[in-house]
Amino acid sequence: MGKNILLVEQDKTFLKLIVPVLEGRGHKVFQAETGKEGQGFIQKENLDMVILGSPLPDSNCLDWLTALRATGNKIPVTYIASSQPELHANKERLERELGVVLAVNKPVIPFVFGAQLEGKLSPEDPQSGKLKDFETMFLALVSKYARMLPSKLDDLAVAISKSKEDPDDASLVAEVRSQAHKIKGTGGSLGFRQVSDCMFFIENAAATMHEKPAKEQTALWADVERKLADAKILGEKEAADVASVVNSKEEETAGQEAPASMARILVVDSDDGFLDIVEALGKQRLVEIVRAKTFREALDRACILPLDAALVNVHAEAPDESFKLARELRNLPGYETLPLAFISGNALVKDRVEAAHAGASLYLDKPLESDSLEKAVEHLVSIRTGGRPRILLVDDDEFFANTIALILRNEGVIVRILTDPNKILEVMQDFPPELLLLDVMMPGITGFEVCRMLRQIPRWQDLPIVFLTGQTGVENRLEAFRSGGDDYLPKPVVNEELLTRVKVRLDRARMLKDRSDKDTITGLLLRRAFSEQLAQLLAEGQRNKTVFTICLIDVDKFKNVNDTYGHLAGDKVLAGLGQLLARRFRVEDLRGRWGGEEFILGFRRESKETMHAAINRVLAEFREMIFTGDDGREFKVSFSGGMASFPEDGESVYELIQTADARLYEAKKQGRNRIILSHDKEKSVTASTQ
Ligand code: GH3
Ligand code: MG
Ligand code: MG
Repeated sequence: MGKNILLVEQDKTFLKLIVPVLEGRGHKVFQAETGKEGQGFIQKENLDMVILGSPLPDSNCLDWLTALRATGNKIPVTYIASSQPELHANKERLERELGVVLAVNKPVIPFVFGAQLEGKLSPEDPQSGKLKDFETMFLALVSKYARMLPSKLDDLAVAISKSKEDPDDASLVAEVRSQAHKIKGTGGSLGFRQVSDCMFFIENAAATMHEKPAKEQTALWADVERKLADAKILGEKEAADVASVVNSKEEETAGQEAPASMARILVVDSDDGFLDIVEALGKQRLVEIVRAKTFREALDRACILPLDAALVNVHAEAPDESFKLARELRNLPGYETLPLAFISGNALVKDRVEAAHAGASLYLDKPLESDSLEKAVEHLVSIRTGGRPRILLVDDDEFFANTIALILRNEGVIVRILTDPNKILEVMQDFPPELLLLDVMMPGITGFEVCRMLRQIPRWQDLPIVFLTGQTGVENRLEAFRSGGDDYLPKPVVNEELLTRVKVRLDRARMLKDRSDKDTITGLLLRRAFSEQLAQLLAEGQRNKTVFTICLIDVDKFKNVNDTYGHLAGDKVLAGLGQLLARRFRVEDLRGRWGGEEFILGFRRESKETMHAAINRVLAEFREMIFTGDDGREFKVSFSGGMASFPEDGESVYELIQTADARLYEAKKQGRNRIILSHDKEKSVTASTQ
C-alpha cells in the first residue's frame, strides 16, 4: 500500500537518489527543501511519515522536530543525520524524546534505506520480515565487497603498470579495461559511487589508449594512476560509511552467498511438532515454510502471502476435509495451478484417487525424511506455472551476479546464476528461463554473440533478452538490438529501474504466450500447443519407459444446449468445464481444448485406472453444476470420455488419440455421461456406478 511521505531535505543530489526509490515502492513523496516548507505540507497533507534530512537551511533539525512534537503531532519521523558523529550525538534524544522511528546517517544506500523504511511504514506487514532479511543480506554483500575492494584496486594497479611497460601488447590494456569495468559495475551497484566514477574514467582511458600518439599516452597513464589513487582513498571512505551501517554481528551469519532458490510453501497440519520438523527441514533447504494449523488459517495465509506450493496433511480420521481444503485453495484467485502435495501416515488407495482428483502432484508418506522433502519441494517448485517468474542471469562477475540476484529474489523472482556463458544451452535445458539477463563483456564470448546464437534456435526466438552492461555508447546500444536483444540496462544498475524493466518484459512475454497458446473461452491450451506438449510427454514416456494416459472428452448433447438455451449459455458451459478441468488434477497434467466442445487431458506417469476414477469424480461434479440459459432457465450438462494409455493402447500420439476417440464414440453409443477406458471394461464401468 502506497503511503504519503514528506521528505524535508535541501540536498538535491540526495533527493535524486531517494525519491525514485520511494516512488518505485508505490509511495507518494512530497518534497520540501526547507523546514518552513515542510511545516506547510504537514498542515495541508495527510501524511504517514516524515523523513527529515539534516541539515536544513533555515532551522536546526532538532529544534524543528521539538517544535513539531510540541504541537502534539505524533507522526512517525525518520531522521537522516548529516554524518555519523551527528547521529551518535543525538541518537538517544531522537529516539527517546522526539519519537524518531528510524535514525540513520548519510551517506545512505538508497534501496537499503528504502527497505529499512518499509519495515517502519508497515511493521504489521508480513513482508517486513522479508525486507529485514534482504537488508541484512544486502549489507553483508556490501561489506564483503568493501573488504575485497582494496585487493581489487591493487590488482588493477598491477595491470596498469604491466600495460604501461609493454604498450604494444593489446591484451594488457584490455585487461586494465576489463578490471576497471567490473569494479565500475559491481561497486557502483553496491553503493560505491565515487569509486565507480573513477573506474569509469580508467575504463574509457584504456579503451581509447591505442588511438593516442605515444606522448599523449604517457599523460593519459598519469591521469589513470591519479584516478586510481583517488579511488583508493574514496574506496576507504565509502567502505567506512558502509561499515557504520552494517551490524557486524549479523554480518557473519548472513555473509554467505545469497540463497540459491527460495520457495514459499504452505504446510497445513494441526500438529505443532510436525510443523517444527518441516520448518527445520525447510531452513536447511532454504525454503520458507508458512505454517497453518487450521483450514481457516491456511486460507488466510494463502491470501496474504504469495505461495509456490502447498503441503497438506491428510487426517487419518477425516481425510476428506484435507482434500476439500486443497480444492478451496485452488479456487482462490491466482492459485488455479498451485502445486499441491499431500502427506499421510497411512495412504489408502481411495485417498490417492481423491488426492489425484484434488490435484495432488505428490503423495508423501509420514514420517517425512529430509531428502524426500527436498525432492518434493524441488518438484513442486519446478512444476509451478504462471507462478513466480524464472530469470537466468549470465555474468562472469559472480559478485555482481549475486547482487542482482538478491535484488530480484527479494521481489519473488526465481533466479539462476551462470558465470560461464559457454554452458548456457545446457543450463537453459533444465532451467528454461522466462527472461535472460545477459552481460556483454565476458571472457571468450560476448553477450551479443550469445544472443545471436540463441535467436537462431526456434525455442528461444521469443525469449526476452535484456543486456546488462557498462558500455553505454550508442554503438553498443545499437549492437544490443542488432544482435536480437530486447532491452538494455546500464551498469551500475539502479535497482528500481532493473525491477521495472524486468517486470514489464516478463508481463508482456507471459501475455503474448498465453495469447498464442491458450483458448480464450476455456483458458486451456489450444490444439497446437497441446499437441506440442503431448509430443514431449510421449518422448518422456519412451525415454524413461513410463506410462502416461490421455482422455478425450466431449460435452453431451451440446447442440441441444445451444439450440435450447442460446449460444452464450453454451459458451458458459465450455468456460465452466475449462475452469473445472484447470482446477482439478495436478499442475503438471495437460489440459487442452481439442476443438468445438471437445477437450483433451494428458496425465504424466499415471495409469488409466487411477485417472479413470479421478475423471469420473470430475464428471460427477460437472453434472451438478447449474448453468443459466440466455432466458434465465437453469440446466445441467454431462460429458463423455474415452481414455488411452501409453504404451498399452498405442505407441504414437496418433494411435493413442485414435483409440481414445473410438472409446469416446463407444461412450456416446452406450448412452453418454460415462468414461470408457478399455474394450473389455466398457460395459461394466460407467459413471452411474460411482
Ligand atoms: P453428442 O452428445 O453426440 O456429442 O452431441 P452434440 O450435440 O454435443 O454433438 P455435435 O457434434 O452434433 O454438436 C456440437 C455442437 O457444438 C455444434 C457446435 O455448434 C457447437 N459448438 C462448437 N464450438 C462451440 C463454441 O465455441 N461455443 C458454442 N456455444 N457452441 C459450440
Ligand atoms: Mg458433443
Ligand atoms: Mg463433438
